[in-house]
Amino acid sequence: MPKIKAYAVKSKGKSPVAFFYERKLGKRNILVRITHCTISRGDLHFIDNDWGDTKFPLVPGHEIIGIVEKTGTEAKNFKLGDRVGIGYQQSACFKCDHCLNGNEQFCLKQKVIGVDCYGGLANQIIVDERFAFKIPDNLKSAKTVPFFSSGLTVFRAIKNANLKPKSTTAVLGIGGLGHLAIQFLEKMEHDVSAFSHSPQKKKVITRLKAKYIDNSKKKNLLKLKNEFDFILSTLNCKFDLDLYLQLLKPTGTICLVGLPINKLNFSVGLLADYAQKTISGNYIGSRKDMKEMLKFASDHQIKSIVEVRPFSEMKKAVSDLKNKKIPIKLVLKN
Ligand SMILES: [Zn+2]
Repeated sequence: MPKIKAYAVKSKGKSPVAFFYERKLGKRNILVRITHCTISRGDLHFIDNDWGDTKFPLVPGHEIIGIVEKTGTEAKNFKLGDRVGIGYQQSACFKCDHCLNGNEQFCLKQKVIGVDCYGGLANQIIVDERFAFKIPDNLKSAKTVPFFSSGLTVFRAIKNANLKPKSTTAVLGIGGLGHLAIQFLEKMEHDVSAFSHSPQKKKVITRLKAKYIDNSKKKNLLKLKNEFDFILSTLNCKFDLDLYLQLLKPTGTICLVGLPINKLNFSVGLLADYAQKTISGNYIGSRKDMKEMLKFASDHQIKSIVEVRPFSEMKKAVSDLKNKKIPIKLVLKN
């Protein structure tokens, strides 16, 4: 049975330390040598057990790229040496209605990193080959690894919105999720704005060819009433949902993919104020979405903005991430 060297957080809020575990290489499993892994805000929530379902020891990291080193007897999708990406979801039953309809991300029997299994902060990982994805050659690993969860989540959220060509869209919260959402929407040829009040983020927004909207003053924002077909919020803190509902066109949608720990309040009346507005959510995406997204990213040369640090500096890197010293996305390279 392969013995895997990983880095685990042993209890709430602690730093990762060396940790070994054994896992059998099942028939449809592949053993992947990890070259890149992100640590995201979501991982920090897991480390601090903010959602209450973390299992310690926790091996964080749910956006992973590596090289296939071994394949199970019935694993046929990959050959040794292939470069693959791995995301948050690790398994599904492939029998329930969701699975049979191609939405295996809703499978109630699924297993995910952080709750059911160990993640990518490790030298290797064993995964079901059905949850590993070949990466187009023109996408560089460091700038692609954030696609495997953040990218997938926003890509599917945009797909769910069924936008008409040249829709008026906006992104709220410009971090790991938001900066990818801007690029997808822009390459889909929608009109894209981004809300922020940070000068540092203004630079990112402009560089990604979106219009910058300063959202520090409510009065200014209300001039944009009935302006947007779609707003995607990646904010994971409390915000004024009523305000953004007013910025939607009568049939607009605001999709919330950021998950604030605290409850959000909103005025139900705003949904029906001469309107039929929608508040929606989204959880990652299917395997089909993943493949579609990777092709789209490859065709349009979409890259994540990353700060790359070696695995050997993970403690400092995680602490810098906690202290907001990493602007968009932290990638650890092994
Ligand atoms: Zn299922």
